[in-house]
Amino acid sequence: MRRALGGLLILAATAGPAGAQAVWFSAEVVHTEGRWTTDGSRIVTNATLRLADGTSRVVSQLGGHADGYTMVVWDDQVPLEPGLRVRVAAHAGTTTWVADDVILLDGGTRAPSVRTVTRKSATPLYWAKSCSRIIRGVEGTSAVAGDGEQATMLAALATWNTAVGGCSFLDLADGGTEDREVGKDFVNVIKIRDARWCRPPVDGDDERCFNAQAAGVTTVTFVDDPEDERDGEIVDADIELNNVTFRLTVNGQGTGTAACDADLSNTLVHELGHLLGLEHTCRGPGDPARVDHTGAAVPLCTETSDPVITEATMYPFQMCGETKKSSPEPDDVQGICGSHPLADDPGACEPPDELGGGCCGTSRGGASAAALALVVLGLVGGRRGGRRGARLSARLRRSAPRP
Ligand SMILES: [Zn+2]
Repeated sequence: MRRALGGLLILAATAGPAGAQAVWFSAEVVHTEGRWTTDGSRIVTNATLRLADGTSRVVSQLGGHADGYTMVVWDDQVPLEPGLRVRVAAHAGTTTWVADDVILLDGGTRAPSVRTVTRKSATPLYWAKSCSRIIRGVEGTSAVAGDGEQATMLAALATWNTAVGGCSFLDLADGGTEDREVGKDFVNVIKIRDARWCRPPVDGDDERCFNAQAAGVTTVTFVDDPEDERDGEIVDADIELNNVTFRLTVNGQGTGTAACDADLSNTLVHELGHLLGLEHTCRGPGDPARVDHTGAAVPLCTETSDPVITEATMYPFQMCGETKKSSPEPDDVQGICGSHPLADDPGACEPPDELGGGCCGTSRGGASAAALALVVLGLVGGRRGGRRGARLSARLRRSAPRP
């Protein structure tokens, strides 16, 4: 399959076969209708394409389906079919545009929801129990009057539960508030950092500061051992939110002085997507190649304008003051429901089991040497009213084997 840059609209002009100027554009096929030509010699298909700017364009292509026949033309053009995303070179014909070349852009309208995968076997991450229990840091934040942030955090959990409740068993269960630091302890924590955008030092390990452009960071620890039957199971996920280099806000209100607002709900709903096992819908320049759940290549963020990708809650950038990520989009929901469908409900809302090691009587634990891996994912904010953030903060670290 040929691949092309995911450019937007007209990229270049080339001469059509009859000397007419052909233009290239990217579009999604929304409807096709094949018919015989009046002399009965050929089938042609009129395809209605939706361009990135929302306008439609009808393009005629040789071949297609009509009256129970299919005519295939092996001319290296991808047959236009509803749902495909394509780049088309076409020139203006008598009544429609006429296709000169068609290249498949990617997997079409198949939802590009992308799951985080293990580093060793590329197994999608998952929660093995029917819930993930979330503790909210009791200190909350100084950014919001009273305990307003706690209600917003609860609402974010409820938003995900409502969005996926009709098709997924996975539930974000509120565990109340505690004075608890993040870390691999089988307890999932949301912490808001008010003083330093850093993970505090612990015995024998320095303070770890985050990318100042990241409005939030989620740390997911999972079993990363192809030999272990629990390979890919998430055992701990923590979220840290940035009220230091961003002005964390609820309903536009915040006490911080940073120039760029980071809406608490907007950032947290995105980070909860990571906690649930979702990856970003497109790649930053430093991200390795990866595929979505259908096997289609995940595009670079700079090379896609597909709204299914750019409007998803798991799109890796947010604007200052943005709120649209406060509710999961269909693509995000599909990512959870496809991996944790109602029919597979384990029916037990419990913390993950310890790995092996002879404790606690689990029969499913793997070898005591089973490795845990840790991945850190963030959401990058842009300037106030400005462009998208310039960099992704998604970073990968691998932990040492569990002691
Ligand atoms: Zn993210």
